[in-house]
Formats: sequence, structure tokens, C-alpha cells
Amino acid sequence: MNLLIWNEHAPEEQHGAIRKAYPEGMQQAVADVFRGENHTITFGWQSQKDQGLSEEVLAKTDVLLYWAHCLHDQLSDAAAERVAAHVEAGMGAIFLHSAHWSKPFKKLSKGTGTLVWREDKKHERLFNVNPSHPIASGVPCEIFLPKDEMYGEPFGCGQPDEIIFIGWFPGGEIFRSGLTYYRGKGRVFYFQPGHETFPVYKNPGIMKILHNAAMWAAGKPEKSAPYPAADACKYVLPKEIGIRLLKRK
Ligand code: ZN
Repeated sequence: MNLLIWNEHAPEEQHGAIRKAYPEGMQQAVADVFRGENHTITFGWQSQKDQGLSEEVLAKTDVLLYWAHCLHDQLSDAAAERVAAHVEAGMGAIFLHSAHWSKPFKKLSKGTGTLVWREDKKHERLFNVNPSHPIASGVPCEIFLPKDEMYGEPFGCGQPDEIIFIGWFPGGEIFRSGLTYYRGKGRVFYFQPGHETFPVYKNPGIMKILHNAAMWAAGKPEKSAPYPAADACKYVLPKEIGIRLLKRK
């Protein structure tokens, strides 16, 4: 499989808090998800020729993994158009975290990309709400992320075809964190976790999701599990009580 791991910044431009979270650079952390497998990985960034998204590069890409935060406006309309056209023709695309506001995602989702946000270094509970989907194969019912940026509803994400994950934040917000779109011959996945100053992409559950998503986007999905029937209607204690007890220690 040919993977294009694209970030608005070149690896050497990533410094400060990003370097602290990802000493090897964010692109390498995403590439680590696919290490030891028979894939060809290409890295791209915005200061390259044709912004790293040339016709030639996209033509040989099976799945694009796209991360961007601050430079969305600097991506040319032509580059966004090229990405969208290649998805329609069959390329898979995974839009990570703040790529919700990127031109190619807005074009493909037919949404505004808008949401509410807050960076307060609090935790996120990511719930797997579609466990029979190939992207959720082998993914636990809940992934606890000690720190991530809050993204909340309403999310101007257009009309997704499937909702796979929902994020919950201690401020009381929820977010449709994992969404699919079928566009022409191509498949698109949006995935919310992944603020650049927290090492979210090193979490084994998140890595599993990224791997599953790339396989699914390339049309080679993991086998989906049967939808698990709950073994009982269980009485449970509130999850957040445990967090308060931990913090008091
Ligand atoms: Zn962010």
C-alpha cells in the first residue's frame, strides 16, 4: 500500500511543545503505526512543490493521512481540488484532528468544518459506538486519553455516512469524533484525537484505529466483528468519580 503522510509543517519546522510530544516529529509517529509492514510511506508538507499534493504524488497514493492546523488558508484551492478529485477516483483519505477546517475536508464532507473548542489539558473519553465496523475492529469500548484538546458539537461536518466514535469531555461536551464518508469510488475518515502538543498518536488504541482506518480507506479492511450483544444490563458507578479519587491522591 502507498501511504502519503502529509503535515502542513515540514518535520524540521516542528519545535517547542510539538517536539516535546513527538521528538521524532508527528509524521514519524503516524508512520510508526505502519512500521514492519510492507507499505511504501511518503512524507509530504506544504512548503514542497505543489504543496506536497501534486498530481504525480496523489496518483500513486492509496491512502492520504492529512494533518493540518494553522495554515489551512495557505493551501491553494487547486491543491484541495486535486485531493478531492483523487478521492472521487478511488484514493482513501484520513483527515486528522484540526484537518476538520481544511479545504479538502470541507469540500469532501460538504460541511462548514465549524465546531467549538478549548485547550485546557483535560482528559477525553473516546467511545466506540460502532464496534461492528472494520475501523473499530479490536478497538475497546472506551479509550481514555489523559490529555487532548476539547472539540465539541455542533460540528459542521456535513452528513457523515457512519459514526464510529464519539468523544466526551469533562466540560460536558460531546463530539462526533470518528466519521466516514463514501465519495465516488473513494472513502474518507475524519478522526478527532491528535492535538499536536499531546502524544495522542502513541496511544495503542489510537494507533489501532489509524491502522484499521487506513486499511478500510484502501478497501482492504480488517474483518469486522459481529456487533457485540451486552451480556447483561449492568449497574455501573459514574466513571468520573474514579477520576476525582485518583486526582485526590
Ligand atoms: Zn488542536
